[in-house]
Amino acid sequence: MISRLFRFRGGIKPASHKAESSAAPIRPAPLPRRLVVPLIQGSRGSARTIVTAGDKVLKGQCIGEAEGAGGTAIHAPASGTVLEIGRYPMAHPSGLESLAIVIEPDGEDRWIATEPLDPASASREDLILRIQASGIVGMGGATFPSHVKLGKGDGISTLLINGAECEPWITCDDRLMRERAVDVVTGARILRQLSGARRIVVGIEDNKPEAIAAMTAAVRESGAGDIDIVPVPTRYPAGGEKQLIRVLTGIEVPASKIASDFGVQCFNVGTAHAVCRALVHGEAMISRIVTVTGNVERPGNYEVALGTPVSHLLEFCGVKAGTSRILMGGPMMGFTLPSTEAPVTKGSNCIIAASPALFPPAPPEQPCIRCGSCASACPVGLHPFELYWLSRAKRFDDASKYRLFDCIECGCCAYVCPGHIPLVDYFRFAKSEIRALGEEQKAASQARTRFESRVARLAREKAEKAARLAAKVAETRAGLAAGDAALIAAAAERAKAQPAVADNDTSPTDPT
Ligand code: SF4
Ligand code: SF4
Repeated sequence: MISRLFRFRGGIKPASHKAESSAAPIRPAPLPRRLVVPLIQGSRGSARTIVTAGDKVLKGQCIGEAEGAGGTAIHAPASGTVLEIGRYPMAHPSGLESLAIVIEPDGEDRWIATEPLDPASASREDLILRIQASGIVGMGGATFPSHVKLGKGDGISTLLINGAECEPWITCDDRLMRERAVDVVTGARILRQLSGARRIVVGIEDNKPEAIAAMTAAVRESGAGDIDIVPVPTRYPAGGEKQLIRVLTGIEVPASKIASDFGVQCFNVGTAHAVCRALVHGEAMISRIVTVTGNVERPGNYEVALGTPVSHLLEFCGVKAGTSRILMGGPMMGFTLPSTEAPVTKGSNCIIAASPALFPPAPPEQPCIRCGSCASACPVGLHPFELYWLSRAKRFDDASKYRLFDCIECGCCAYVCPGHIPLVDYFRFAKSEIRALGEEQKAASQARTRFESRVARLAREKAEKAARLAAKVAETRAGLAAGDAALIAAAAERAKAQPAVADNDTSPTDPT
């Protein structure tokens, strides 16, 4: 049992805006005319396509195998026909395209035969392989492959299930816990078995009393009091993995370490639910709950087939006039979608239609007055104003020394800044510049290595050629010498064989 809670440093309490979407039950979103399923769905690895244009596929059928140990499989979200494999815009701030499998649903929604796997009798290896083959990644937004995170299954004492959902506007986890608590609890127990943990603690922000009640009831009704359902104070970013670990266990995981170094593993409630569906019901990950909210006629939570274009979902929810941009994720850590043709993926937890009325434009940026509010709000213990000056001055080495890469881009510093400085934008810019510089240096170093190898190869080939030539010359000379000697010897033999003209000449002399 959790006997006391701890505080994480910093944090803020923004307006929650949860009520706008949390009231209605989860509803299914209609299938679009075409599903665009990217081969890259997570933060690590990708899938390798195993279908071609014209193939008929069933709902839940594997269409992309996991590529490499970190890859995760992808599946057809509906039965239909593969139209093409082409490049489509990604749900990413860059707006870059990635390879995707395009499926035209046939409207029949026919499932492939499902094969449940009993966690009580299957081996750990088989269960992990099934999780990978079912395409399960972290559903909290990080999309880290779950089979990789589960590791070797030792050294873990506490399994944390993250139901905090701290970011404003997002309510998909809240509704999932309210409506599908039994599956979440079942998935949590499977994850405990696979991680080797002794206890399970579920952390839920105390602004979700219905979810807390539903999860508590699901544990009680299963007849085992083996899971602690713990309400945690509502404070952003309590749902950050390290912040939740701090609140529930008191452990402060340094930026350079990961939770499992301290015997803790953390999974989102959505991931626990997906694990249950994959093993107990044999269903691959083909859909997710998405909160659609903001300036729309019908805000709420929708069960959306992966690959559904955001534009289709927005049309279904009725985007109102005055919408100026579309956010994917929450307002603190999300991003503006460059194209609404981007599809819903495994990490798409929320779509917000933003209008100037709901999200007024930020006032003009003012100079930093070094008030220190940003440092007080930072949950990681950074000095955002220092990072701001260094990023602005493009002193990237110094920014790295000031732990720029420990920044989780939570936005707390920018939220409290009286100068309305878009601090996170500066940090993202500095990080991308440092990464680009690193890539350039890597490319330059690879080019130098290639050049030096080429020079060395040419020198070696030249030396080998010279050696071969010298050997040939020597051989020829030796041959000639041998030939000459033979010729001379032969001539000598011939000479010897001829009669001596002077000594034995018996021809008659001229008498005249
Ligand atoms: S909160 Fe804004 S003004 Fe204050 S120190 Fe930080 S960056 Fe400067
Ligand atoms: S965005 Fe980065 S620097 Fe700002 S509060 Fe969050 S972690 Fe700290």
